[in-house]
Amino acid sequence: MLGRHAIVCGSSMAGLLTAGLLARHFERVTLVERDPLEDSAQPRKGVPQGVHTHILLRRGLDIAASIFPGLLEDLQAAGAQVMDMSADCEWHVAGIWRKRIHSGVSMYSQTRPLFEWRVRSRLAALPNVRILDGQEAASFLVSADGTSIRGLKIRAVGSDAETELEADLVVDASGRGSRTPQWMEGLGLPKVEETQLKVDVGYATRLYHRPAGFDPGWRALILSAELPRIRRIGAILPVEGDRWTITLGGWLKDYPPTDDAGFLEYARTLVQPHLYEVLRGASPLGPASSYRFAHSQWRHYERLPRLLERLVVVGDAYCSFNPIHGQGITTSALQVEWLGECLRQGMNTLARRYFEGAGSMLKGVWAMSTTEDLRLPELDGVRPMGSGLASWYGERFQRLTTKDDEAIQTFMQVMHMIKPPTAMFSPRLVLKTLMRQPVSSELARGPALPTQGEQQVA
Ligand SMILES: Cc1cc2nc3c(=O)[nH]c(=O)nc-3n(C[C@H](O)[C@H](O)[C@H](O)COP(=O)(O)OP(=O)(O)OC[C@H]3O[C@@H](n4cnc5c(N)ncnc54)[C@H](O)[C@@H]3O)c2cc1C
Repeated sequence: MLGRHAIVCGSSMAGLLTAGLLARHFERVTLVERDPLEDSAQPRKGVPQGVHTHILLRRGLDIAASIFPGLLEDLQAAGAQVMDMSADCEWHVAGIWRKRIHSGVSMYSQTRPLFEWRVRSRLAALPNVRILDGQEAASFLVSADGTSIRGLKIRAVGSDAETELEADLVVDASGRGSRTPQWMEGLGLPKVEETQLKVDVGYATRLYHRPAGFDPGWRALILSAELPRIRRIGAILPVEGDRWTITLGGWLKDYPPTDDAGFLEYARTLVQPHLYEVLRGASPLGPASSYRFAHSQWRHYERLPRLLERLVVVGDAYCSFNPIHGQGITTSALQVEWLGECLRQGMNTLARRYFEGAGSMLKGVWAMSTTEDLRLPELDGVRPMGSGLASWYGERFQRLTTKDDEAIQTFMQVMHMIKPPTAMFSPRLVLKTLMRQPVSSELARGPALPTQGEQQVA
């Protein structure tokens, strides 16, 4: 045990994973959450993105399952759909339908509230964890010399009466709206630099009934963007309760509408007609929800010359990415995993060691996410040297992933953060990528369109 008490602020994915990890290192862990929490899979106010499709990358899922053994079984029992993202998924990318093979990368597909609820249930079952919901962090408690955190002031939502919680470690997992930069500045620490990339991405998501007899030969359908030419995406993913979550999205304020006619019309303009054809005959289970995401942001704690000892920031509070790339939960999980490594070395200089390592890990993920976005010439961001070449290679590599088994498997492993992006640069893959890439007529033609009849079998 490294200390008597640790506090985590925010009980979304980053906070839940952190609290699970800390329960192994501290006698007691307190998780402070502003929202009231129910023992069910409910969307909630503090996580407005929760109603939208969340792709859970395999690396993130594996880290979550290592913190909470039994989680995968819980998810499956609750109806999560386990599928191979290549074999089970019809995926249009780089102008072609990707060949479907067994990639060996299986994913769990469920609604975001279900995932969060199953993780929270596992956490709540730990004897040394206390979850304080309906309570919010109000400010830090600091040591007399101002160099180290010694706890958190919290208050019930809607009340001014503050309670002091002493702790040996405080972790901020309160998301993009985190107040840590302001609170640190208020204590005389330097301003936290922030990098932003404005993408103005919009999402619209709606749940649909998944008809029992519907079998067009795929379980999920993804229509990727091809920036800068094709700027809209669409996806159908199976989730628990015989449902589909269907999401449409676009960059640069090309927001999908949420009314019936507008949603359908947006789907009609996607790169292929398959999603539209499914939508035409599908039964919605409620209204569509929208989400507007203005910019990716990275608060550079790793650059601060002075830090508050015993304070760590994880998840979106540290760095949040364009959601279209599906990296948020897994990047949070990677930070939590790294925090575990740092804790194994003890509490001395923990904040410095954590932010240095997490900062260099974020460099890679930030590059993966923004290189793709920066294909849009309208985006005002720094294009690092060689980014044009990286884009060119990436595009050719994507084309290779439509037909070459090794490229497909490698891409899935890189996308799911199981392997680093350098895996796409093995000599053999570079050679294949640079060679001419004829496309089989079957891939060019693509899957048959689902018919209305197929959907009505239910
Ligand atoms: C539209 C959309 C789609 C996304 N899709 C994906 C995807 O496909 N795959 C993926 O991996 N990621 C996706 N993400 C990102 C993902 O949702 C986040 O990265 C993930 O939830 C981790 O966030 P977090 O836990 O750091 O913060 P958040 O999820 O923002 O949660 C912050 C928590 O802190 C609480 N809180 C805030 N302030 C206080 C306070 N003062 N005191 C106490 N509690 C507080 C809030 O109530 C909330 O519970 C998507 C994001 C968006 C916007």
